[in-house]
Amino acid sequence: MSEVEGSAFAPWPLTALDVPALRAAGRRPVPLRQFVLKVHSRCNLACTYCYIYQGRDRSWRGRPARAATATMRRTAQRIAEHVDRHGLREVRVDLHGGEPLMNGPEAVLEYAAAVRAELPEGRGAHITVQTNGTLLTAATLDRLAAAGIRVGLSLDGGTAALNSRRTDHAGRPSWPAASRAARLLAARPDGYAGLLCTIDLAADPALVYHSLAALRPPSLDLLLPHANWTAPPPGLPHRAPWAARGAREVPYGQWLATVFDLWWDGEPGPRVRLFSEIIALLLGLPSRTESVGLSPSAALVVDTDGAIEQVDSLKTAYEHAPATGLDVFRNTFDQALDHPGVAARQLGIDALGAVCRGCPVVRVCGGGNYTHRYLEGSGFRQPSVYCADLEHLIRHIAHRLDTALTYHNSVTLPDRESPQRGPGSASGEDWGALQGRTSRTRR
Ligand code: SF4
Repeated sequence: MSEVEGSAFAPWPLTALDVPALRAAGRRPVPLRQFVLKVHSRCNLACTYCYIYQGRDRSWRGRPARAATATMRRTAQRIAEHVDRHGLREVRVDLHGGEPLMNGPEAVLEYAAAVRAELPEGRGAHITVQTNGTLLTAATLDRLAAAGIRVGLSLDGGTAALNSRRTDHAGRPSWPAASRAARLLAARPDGYAGLLCTIDLAADPALVYHSLAALRPPSLDLLLPHANWTAPPPGLPHRAPWAARGAREVPYGQWLATVFDLWWDGEPGPRVRLFSEIIALLLGLPSRTESVGLSPSAALVVDTDGAIEQVDSLKTAYEHAPATGLDVFRNTFDQALDHPGVAARQLGIDALGAVCRGCPVVRVCGGGNYTHRYLEGSGFRQPSVYCADLEHLIRHIAHRLDTALTYHNSVTLPDRESPQRGPGSASGEDWGALQGRTSRTRR
């Protein structure tokens, strides 16, 4: 589909955003720092909610199953060219699928080696492979570790029942193999990037959090299911974007707030990226994720055929929604930065509509994930379909932070040399609790 055809679905930004005028006005693109490279476009699982194989975009059917050696090499050269042109010291490379370990680790190792071989001297790449874990073995982990590749694992929780939506094509559960992978990774913290979990409202948030924390991941990504105003997520009604703010039902906000309280009040656990990012934003720091905040997106995807794509989550919007019409054989990544969809994701508050721009939590929320703003026939300039849920969560975290800081200011901390005891002073226990809270907010 051409950009003009796509504009029937998303006139903003595809035809309404004038990128040449933006550039002429001095708005420069932000260099890319994250490259999501598709190693394999098929998967051995058939998760019921998968946004790649169950989404509106079916372009995966026409792509090669595995990235060819020539595609890997050309992609690596394009990354190196971008790194060199923009003087980047390091980039992040995420090797994805489908399932990137479909045919063993060779393709993953080959892609990583190609990127490292092409990078200019003194420049680095943090390389991670994101897997469903079912094909992960100790021998594979050894080879990935030797190549400096860390592993991220996708799970819906830490029990068989919580992973019932993650089955293979014959309906067999993935949990026995995936839980084996989780145990292998927990024994190798240096190579463990973390867990990625898509929220299921039907699952008890406490059980999800505690069971995942028990797998000892260094970090935990809790993802809102990819959805939009035309195709709302499970548990949210169809409603109009202009009625987004102040909606009474906030099931996702409540689910996440429950997990936040367990994380904040409990024993030190994994870093939960969404919570850390919101806390950072509340403290005035920039975000490092596209889910919240106003920082420009600096990530692109290269598919198995070398096509340069925006982000996979856009596959839930309409057929070919992630397409840029560019590929690594003919185009540079700098050219991709001038695609209206890519430029829109770098505009921060200027990409948002009037509802978001007038919102009191906009600096923290940032309109949520770009994909979740989609409305068919209009595009990506609405508030997030999770608007009320995001505001609920942000206000909840702000309240908890405020309470902790009020507590901090109300106590007289003990002198280091001669600890005080008594009314109005912090006992050793209080001091430890406060330290625990403070250390958990560090990024
Ligand atoms: S900034 Fe977030 S909470 Fe505010 S209106 Fe936009 S989507 Fe809703």
